[in-house]
Amino acid sequence: MACNLPTSIGVLTSGGDAQGMNAAVRAVVRSALHQGAAVHAIYEGYQGMVDGGERIRALSWEDVGSILHRGGTVIGTARCPAFREREGRLTAARNLLRHGIDRLVVIGGDGSLTGANLFRQEWPGLLAELVQRGEIDAQTAQQHPALMIAGLVGSIDNDMVGTDMTIGADSALHRIVEAIDAITSTAASHQRTFVIEVMGRHCGYLALMSAIAGGSDYVLIPESPPSQDWEQKMCDLLRNGRAAGRRDSIVVVAEGAQDRQGKPITSDYVRQVLQDRLGEDTRVTILGHVQRGGTPGAFDRCMSTLVGHAAVQELLAATADSEPQMIGMRYNRVGRAPLMQCVEQTQAVARMIAEQNYAKAMELRGSSFTEMFETFKAMASALPSVMPPARPRRLAILHGGGLAPGMNTAARAAVRLGLDRGHTMLGVHGSFEGLLDGRIEELSWGDVEGWTAMGGAELGTSRHVPSIEQLYTVARALETHDIDGLLIIGGWTAYKAAHLLYTERERYPAFKIPMICLPASIDNNLPRSELSIGADTALNAIVHGLDRIKQSAMAARRCFVVEVMGRNCGYLALMSGLASGAERIYLPEEGVRLKDLQADVERMIEGFRGGRRFYLTIRSERANAQYTTDFMRRLFEEEGEGLFDVRQSILGHVQQGGNPSPFDRVLATRLAAHCIDFLTGELQRGSATGAYIGLVEGKVTISPLKQMLDVVDLDHRRPLEQWWLDLRPVMQAMARPAAETPDSA
Ligand code: ADP
Repeated sequence: MACNLPTSIGVLTSGGDAQGMNAAVRAVVRSALHQGAAVHAIYEGYQGMVDGGERIRALSWEDVGSILHRGGTVIGTARCPAFREREGRLTAARNLLRHGIDRLVVIGGDGSLTGANLFRQEWPGLLAELVQRGEIDAQTAQQHPALMIAGLVGSIDNDMVGTDMTIGADSALHRIVEAIDAITSTAASHQRTFVIEVMGRHCGYLALMSAIAGGSDYVLIPESPPSQDWEQKMCDLLRNGRAAGRRDSIVVVAEGAQDRQGKPITSDYVRQVLQDRLGEDTRVTILGHVQRGGTPGAFDRCMSTLVGHAAVQELLAATADSEPQMIGMRYNRVGRAPLMQCVEQTQAVARMIAEQNYAKAMELRGSSFTEMFETFKAMASALPSVMPPARPRRLAILHGGGLAPGMNTAARAAVRLGLDRGHTMLGVHGSFEGLLDGRIEELSWGDVEGWTAMGGAELGTSRHVPSIEQLYTVARALETHDIDGLLIIGGWTAYKAAHLLYTERERYPAFKIPMICLPASIDNNLPRSELSIGADTALNAIVHGLDRIKQSAMAARRCFVVEVMGRNCGYLALMSGLASGAERIYLPEEGVRLKDLQADVERMIEGFRGGRRFYLTIRSERANAQYTTDFMRRLFEEEGEGLFDVRQSILGHVQQGGNPSPFDRVLATRLAAHCIDFLTGELQRGSATGAYIGLVEGKVTISPLKQMLDVVDLDHRRPLEQWWLDLRPVMQAMARPAAETPDSA
C-alpha cells in the first residue's frame, strides 16, 4: 500500500459514552477543517479502527451539523477486546494508514487513553512489521514515523486527575439533581426517607456534588468512608434534622461507597439501617443509566467545544517526540497535562481506595473536593459544631441587584454555616429598602429548609442603592439590630451599595463592620469573579430555548435573531452561541456597525443560496442601542429578498427564572462558606474589612472593596478584563467558513 495522502486527524469516542462527546467531535472536525487539515471519524471506538473499511470515514463540515444537543456519541463507542491484543493494534495501524491518519484525538476514559498510549509506543514497531509483511510500503512508513495523540476525557464520573471536569460530568449532575429535586418533593409530602444511589465508580464527585446541590442529609463516598458506628451517627443526624424542621430525609450513596474496612456499603444496607433504627418508611432509588442520558447541559457543550478545539491545535503542533497530552480544564481554562501521568494518578486513586489509604485518595482528589465535603457535613447537621459564645455575633444577609437563581442557595448555606459557627443569623427582607424599614428577622436552621433548589429569592431583592440621605437610616438600622457583619448577595447595584457604605464609614461608624459581597447575577458582569451565581442557570435556560427554536426552524429556510440578556456584558451571548452553534453573535463589547451587518447579510444570502436552511444569530440585549433586534430582523428580511424568512425571539425573563442549576448551587454554597469564614475571621481579629469574593482562575479570591473601582468599567457596569472574550476565536472557528455551503449549525 502506497499512500501519498495528506496527513489526517482521526477522532474516536471510546469506552463509556458521556453527554458532550458530540460537541467534542464537532469541535475537532471543524477546527481541523478550519486549519486546512483533513479529519476522519473512526466509528465504534477502537473496534472501528480494527475493522477499518466504512468505519473510518472522512468528515465534512456539515457531517457534524445538528449534533451539539444530542446525548451519547453519534460516531458510536464500544469496548474492543481485539485492541487489547497486539495483532488487533497491528490491523488498526494498517487501517489508519490507508487514510493517512497519524494523529488521533481519543475521547474516552482512562482505559481508552491507556490503550491509545500503548498504541503510540508500539507504532514504529507495528509499522516495521507491516512493511515486513508487505502490507504497507517503506515510503508510507517513513511518511508517518510517529503516532501523535491527544486525549480528551469523556466520563460522567469526573474521576480523572489533571482536569477539573470531565466531559459529561456536569450533565450527569443535572440528571441526578433533577431526580433528587423530584424525589424530595414526594418524600416531603409523605415525610419519607429516600436512599439514592448514583454512579461514579471509584469517584465520589457525583455523589458529593449532588448531595450538596440537592440539599441532602447524608452522603457516602468511596474516598472518605464514614467512621466507626456511622450508622448510629447517620440516624442521629437525620433525627435532629427532622426535629429542626425537615420533612424528608435523603441519603446519597455513591455506587463505590465502602466502609473503613473496604466492605461495600450498598444502598439497600443503608435503607435497612434507616428502617430498623428510625422506624421510617425508607425507599431506594438507583438512578442508573438515566445519568448518562439526555441532552448535554450548556457547560458540557462549551467545555467540550473548547477542549476539542485545543486538541486539534495540540496535534497540529505536535512532533514525533512530543509527549502526548491530555486536554482538560484547569481553573476555568483549557489546560494540558502529560497524558500518562494523569492516567497513572487516576489509577493510583482507585488503588489507594482499594488499599484503604483514604487520606491519600482524598488528597489526590484536590483541596476543593475535601473542602466541599467538610462544608456539606457542616450544613447537613442541624446542631452547631461549636459551643455558642456568650454573646453570639449577629450576621445579616441581604440581596441586592437583579434576581439571580442561586440566591436562595447561597442564603441557606450562609445561614446554616453561620449557625454552625455559633453566630446568630439574620435575614433582611427586601434588600436595602428592607434594611431602611427594619424588615429583619432571625433565621433558624429549619427556616431555610428547601431553599437550595428554589429559584427566586425568598428574602427579596431590589436594584435600589441607598441615597446619601438614606445612609443615616441605614446606619441606624445596623445599630438598632446590633449587626456585627454583613453578607450582601447580589449583582452590580449590590456591589455599588456595599462600596458606598464602605466609602462612607468615616462618617457613619455603624458601617465599620466586616462586610462582603457575593456575586449573584445572570449577567456575569461582576469584578474579580469569572463566574457569578445564576449565570450557569441562565445559560442553560437560553440553550434549552435555542434548541427548541432550532427545531422549530428546521422546516423552513429561516434566519433567527435571538436576543439574550446580559445588560452590557456579552457573556451569555457568547457562551450560548458556543453551546448552540450560532453563526454570529453580537456583543456589547464589540458593538455593531453597519458594515458588519452588510457582511452578515451577504454571508447569509450566500449560505441560503448554497442550500442551507437555518442561520442562527444571537444578539446581546445592548449590543447596539439603535440596531435593535427588530431592526436586524427587518434588515435581514428585506435584504434577503424572499430567499429566506427572518424571525426574532426575545427570550426575556425565562432567563432569570427557574431553579438554580447544579453548578450554581455548588458555587453558591462554596462561596457562601468562604464568606462566612471571612466574616468570622474578621470578627475574631476585631477587624472590619469591606470585601468582595469571586472566582479568579477557578480559585476563590477575596478582594478589597477599597480598590474595586480600579478594576471596573463604571460606565458599562462590567469588569475591565473579561476572560471569556478570549474564547471568541473558537466561536469563529466553529461557525461556517464563507466558502462552505449547506446546513447546519
Ligand atoms: P474507559 O475508556 O471508559 O475507561 P474501558 O476501560 O472499557 O473504558 O476501555 C475502552 C476500550 O479501550 C477497551 O475496550 C479497549 O479497546 C481499549 N483499552 C482499554 N485499556 C486498554 C489497554 N490497557 N490496552 C489496550 N487497549 C485498551
